[in-house]
Parts: sequence; C-alpha cells; structure tokens
Amino acid sequence: MRKTFTTISLTIGILASFAQNNNSKLQKKTNNFTLENQISKIEESEPVKRKCGTPALNSSYEEAFQAMMQKNEQFANGKKSAVVYNIPIIFHIIHTGQAVGTSATVPTRNLNAAFINSQIAALNADYRKLNTDFTTYVTQSTFIANSSDIQINFCAAKVSPTGATLAEPGIDRVLASSKSLTGTTWSMSYIESNVKPATSWDPTKYYNVFVLEFGGADAGTLGYAQFPTVTSSGTPTIGDLAGFGGAANTDGVALDWHYTGLNNDGTYNKGRTLTHETGHWLGLYHIWGDDGSACSGSDNVADTPNQGGENYTCPSTNGAVVTDACSSTSPGVNYQNYMDYSDDKCMVMFTAGQKARMQAVMASCARRTSLNTSTVCTIPNSIDENNSNVEMSLFPNPTNGELNITIDLLNAQDFTISVINTLGQTVKEVKQTQSNGGTIKIDLSSNSAGVYFVTLKSKTISKTKRIILQ
Ligand SMILES: [Zn+2]
Repeated sequence: MRKTFTTISLTIGILASFAQNNNSKLQKKTNNFTLENQISKIEESEPVKRKCGTPALNSSYEEAFQAMMQKNEQFANGKKSAVVYNIPIIFHIIHTGQAVGTSATVPTRNLNAAFINSQIAALNADYRKLNTDFTTYVTQSTFIANSSDIQINFCAAKVSPTGATLAEPGIDRVLASSKSLTGTTWSMSYIESNVKPATSWDPTKYYNVFVLEFGGADAGTLGYAQFPTVTSSGTPTIGDLAGFGGAANTDGVALDWHYTGLNNDGTYNKGRTLTHETGHWLGLYHIWGDDGSACSGSDNVADTPNQGGENYTCPSTNGAVVTDACSSTSPGVNYQNYMDYSDDKCMVMFTAGQKARMQAVMASCARRTSLNTSTVCTIPNSIDENNSNVEMSLFPNPTNGELNITIDLLNAQDFTISVINTLGQTVKEVKQTQSNGGTIKIDLSSNSAGVYFVTLKSKTISKTKRIILQ
C-alpha cells in the first residue's frame, strides 16, 4: 500500500529555514530526510551510523513517476526487454588545499585516482550483478529469484565540457576557494545553493558526483541524491521541488570523501554509499518506505518485502532469514538490498522491481536519457589523413587563435571546412564553391583552449586533422 505524505517540505526555502531555526530543523529533518537525528554527537571511537540525506517519498512526485511508469509498464510486465545503458560519470573532488593523496588504501580529502577507479568498478559490479559477495549474503530462493542485473554501466568521463582531455579520467579536482566557496565542511543547504552550482558540469552529458565533506547541520551524513526529473506527456514536469527532480545545476549526488571507493572505513568500505545514492538518483526510495518503523510506508516496488525500519550492521552474516513485525515469515526482510542502511559488506542486491523503475528513468527522464548518447567517455581518434586527392596543411599548430588552412584539390569542387571540438560540436564552418582550395584563415581566438579537429568534406573527399588551441 502506498503511504500518502501530507506535507511537501523539501524545498530550498525550507532548507533556508532550517538554518534559521535549529530546533525545527531537527524535527523537519526527522520527518522528511529520515535521518538518524537522535544521534546528536557521534563518538569518534564508535562506527558512524549510516545516514543518508536523500528526501523521503513525496506523493506528488510519485504520482508523476507512476504516470511515467505506466508508459513503461512493459518493463514491469516483462514484455519489454531492458536496455543496457551507459552513464558517463565525473567526480568533482572538492578539496580545501590538500595535496593529492599517495596511499591507495588510506584516503585523504583530495582523493587519488585509485579511490575513484575502485568506486567506478564497484558501481559497475553492483549495477551489473557482478559483485562476488552476492552469494554469501543472498541464500533465500525468493531473493535469489528477485535479484537483478540493472544493465547500467558507468564510464569515467575523459573529456571536459570545453573539450579538453582530462588528465585523470573521471576526475575534476576543484580547490574550493577557486570557486568562492567558504568554509571547509558544508551543510546540505550550502551544498545546494553554492557548492553544486559552482562546480557542476552539463548534467545532460555527465552524472555529477560531488565528493566533499559534510559539516554543520549535516555532519555525519554519508551522501544524498537528487531524484530524476519526471516528464510524461500530459503531465507537468515535476521539476520545481528541490530534491525531486530539482534544478539542473544541483543534479547528481553529494558524497562524503571518507566513504568513496574501496577505503579503510570499517563499515562503509566497499563504495556502496554511492551505489545506494545512485539508486535514489535513478528513482528508488529506501526499502523500508521512510515511515519510521511502521508497516504502512512503501518504496513503491512490489517485490521488496514490507519492512519496518531500516537495518544497520549485518542482521545475518550467512543470508539466513531475518524477520520483523512487517514481514514475520520467510523470506523476511531484504536487508541485503542496496536501498537499506546495512553495512557495505552485506548490501549486495537490487530487485527486478527496482530495475523496472531505474530502466524507466533511463528511458524517459530528462537529464538521464541523454547520458546514454553522451560521448564524453571517448576521445575522438578516427582521423583520416590518407586521402591522396587532397592536400591540407594547418599552421601554426598549436595555435593561439589564428589558423591558416592551406588546401590543394586536384579538381575544383564544393567543399566545407569544419572545426569540431572533442564533443563533436562544430564551432566554426567555412563553405567554398567550385574551388581548388587556397589558404583559408579561421579565427579561433574566442574558443576555449583544447583539442579540435579540422575536417574538409566534399561529395567525394573527407579529410581530418587534429589541432591544439592554446
Ligand atoms: Zn538513502
């Protein structure tokens, strides 16, 4: 049964009001963020209790989501094959001046590439059901049958928004002060209003993950996600509720650096905080329905068992049946699900119903469908320099802006010279009619520095060369 929430209070305005009234903030967060606010101070010697800041179910949003699911009901009915999607991912490592770490096992705030690479590997294993710990913790036949390969791959972005090749795939290092960000640790409201807008890359091409350190009102939070924007024909876009398909420049996931990738944290060490938050980012709710410990809340997924509250630690280490007041008989509750609060080592599966939601999001949602055709994980290298019917030379190369293109064609013909960036976008174009060529000047001084491709094309000729704009 779907639980209807009577209030919609996750808005920037409410976030702002949190800052103004600390007492009401805690109450509202308990209602809407389902955080463990009873823990006012976490002793350093004790493990941090998993705390996700993603908002709880919003009934207006879910109505639109269900309308979208209707369009994709074939997924749920098994009548339509799922599609393998690819999502380019960029990690904005937002530091405050720390050097890039040197240890592959002990993280530092300016995480080195080893942590990012292990995080991407963990996402791919979990979303393709290739995680090797699945069989240890899932031994009940019902859960084995329900478990699913989500058929989503994640690739490290190799090209920046300006077309530059990234020095480290999937990584954008950001010194906080260079973006006018103040302080060293941040609340969700500051992240929404300042950190994300200052550092986000085009969310139609990149899945933005903001790696930072939570502080202030949200100290101890492991991460939080923005839900996908739902559009469905005849239904208004649910794009004006912060958190629920909010603004483009806040899309993505904020993730605490301590829990990124394979790390030395005793509890959240397998990169599954991002597996969990990515689930939200693709339209999933917490498996217990965000209703405290009651049995009335739902995650709107049919094949996840009704569950009272969240699970912590690993309720069983061998996949044995674990029951609660809402699921009192076998197979019990699905504490092994990525959308519970269990420790990283025992959250090991998604269900088919969760897959249906995520596949529908990839098929229909703004800033999700376009990711699959984004080319930012590929550096163009298909350069044809061997066409004997044309001579084309470029100078100077590298250039500071002015580029001379000298062309010598055997036969006069119509042709087009295009300058293309590494995203495949044409930034300059010159057309010639019945010409043998000559020298053509192109001014690139207003374009961003980076790698570009100059292509000559006619009905019979195609030739491409690479230039560097400094
Ligand atoms: Zn969560």
